[in-house]
Amino acid sequence: MTDSNADFNVSRRTVIKALGSAPLLAAAGPVRALNKTDVIVIGAGLSGLNAALLLESAGMSVKVLEGRDRIGGRVQSLRNIAGNPEAGGTAFAPGYARLVDAANKYGVGLVDITPTIPYFMNREIYLQGQYIKGDEWKEHPLNPFPAQFKELPPYAYFNVLMGAINPLKNSDDWVSPDNAQLDISLHDWLVKSGQSEAAIELAYNTNPTHGMSAHDISALLAMFAASFGSKQRAITANNPVKGYTAVGGNQAIPEAMAGALKNEVQLETTVVGIRSDGSGAEVQTADGTIHRADRVICSLPCSVLRRVKIGPMLSGRQALGVKTLDSQVINQIHIVPKSPFWEKDGMSPNMFTDSLAGMVIGEHKGADPRDVTSLTIWLRGERAAWMDQVNQTDAVRQVVADLERIRPAAKGQLEVLGYKSWYRDPYSSGDWAIWAPGQVSGFFDDLAKPHGRLHFCGEHTAVANRGMEGAMESGERVAMEILLA
Ligand SMILES: Cc1cc2nc3c(=O)[nH]c(=O)nc-3n(C[C@H](O)[C@H](O)[C@H](O)COP(=O)(O)OP(=O)(O)OC[C@H]3O[C@@H](n4cnc5c(N)ncnc54)[C@H](O)[C@@H]3O)c2cc1C
Repeated sequence: MTDSNADFNVSRRTVIKALGSAPLLAAAGPVRALNKTDVIVIGAGLSGLNAALLLESAGMSVKVLEGRDRIGGRVQSLRNIAGNPEAGGTAFAPGYARLVDAANKYGVGLVDITPTIPYFMNREIYLQGQYIKGDEWKEHPLNPFPAQFKELPPYAYFNVLMGAINPLKNSDDWVSPDNAQLDISLHDWLVKSGQSEAAIELAYNTNPTHGMSAHDISALLAMFAASFGSKQRAITANNPVKGYTAVGGNQAIPEAMAGALKNEVQLETTVVGIRSDGSGAEVQTADGTIHRADRVICSLPCSVLRRVKIGPMLSGRQALGVKTLDSQVINQIHIVPKSPFWEKDGMSPNMFTDSLAGMVIGEHKGADPRDVTSLTIWLRGERAAWMDQVNQTDAVRQVVADLERIRPAAKGQLEVLGYKSWYRDPYSSGDWAIWAPGQVSGFFDDLAKPHGRLHFCGEHTAVANRGMEGAMESGERVAMEILLA
């Protein structure tokens, strides 16, 4: 097995140690001060790069510091596997205007994935030790859904339900104070909306996209995701293209953005401290170097930012947000099948299970959309948390063994070529932000406020867009903030 989580293997302990023991800037110890730029951007993910490019185009000098040895942050394409499957940002719709624009502007080709979408929608259902065929599901005793939704498979139910009962009309309504009464747990809101415990357990908690279960997240977060999804579907209603990836993998987009910067991104440059005052700002990196600028943009998710020393200290609701906003625990195993075992057992390669193997998705990244180029096992919630607690090689082996157990035709046919834990990666400490009940009304408004000459961006600060487009939105907002300062 090649470990795609290379940055974890190399440096988690070193980075945590460096972050934890960093002196505040200009404190004792040898330091090397460098020339001043207008703006330092911390992080070469989509948000930081978008901000850097916009500021450069406005005539500012910009330096981007990146802790990892690669560009792209939570967009990571596995180039060691045929078709470059994505370990991070997976796909995007034509309505991701900023991202599509960046790809066009910086010369990255887009792949229309519309012909492959029907394959993803067809998954075998494996629950409580048994396969349930598609035509048996509607009347099956394990189907807990209300009459009008009984035909929906468990992996589609929640999204369809949210589309039907989401009270938010616009994708930015989730942060409106008018909706603060909805900042309760998704579970409690679903129960109030008439959903049974059994329906919530199966449709949400079995393979949760946010949190360990519907108890952990604010209903507003689920509503935001649903209204953003609806907006994207509305934009593409008359568009034959429903989705994209990038030629060479989605990581090609941030790489091309970085390539368009005047100053090369400084890789393997981990920031451990930031200080700003009335006259300027300083950033200290793990090697003791001090970088100076008029202003600093920080694109780190809160789960990482809370290990960076900030002077003067953050306070109030902003400090609470940085300390407590968590990121989703999520792991992936990437497999190249030695043979098309699904032809042997006559089932889809895709699976939705309540077993250890979680969710299995066949990737269709070859010239012929019917071809399966690799398989991705998605492990979310408690499965991912368990994997993060034990020896990773053993954990991967056990998940694969579980898949072989419930899918005998796959036995001996699964070659693991990649594994990624986003939580154990110290440069992300999880995936997307998971807003817990009370956190949206508790501190969203304050989280991205400038702190002296320190400004914030990143997916977790986006108001109207999610994922990669949310990151791009936040980069644009922070660049405007600096230009208007
Ligand atoms: C498994 C997975 C699936 C996803 N699927 C989708 C999808 O289908 N569609 C979609 O739109 N989005 C998806 N996303 C989300 C999307 O990828 C992210 O929201 C987006 O890329 C975040 O960009 P960002 O700039 O906010 O943060 P990041 O990309 O995390 O950028 C922050 C940067 O800061 C760097 N950094 C961290 N600490 C330091 C430090 N101390 N010093 C210097 N640098 C540091 C990091 O290395 C990183 O490069 C997915 C993400 C994952 C992980």
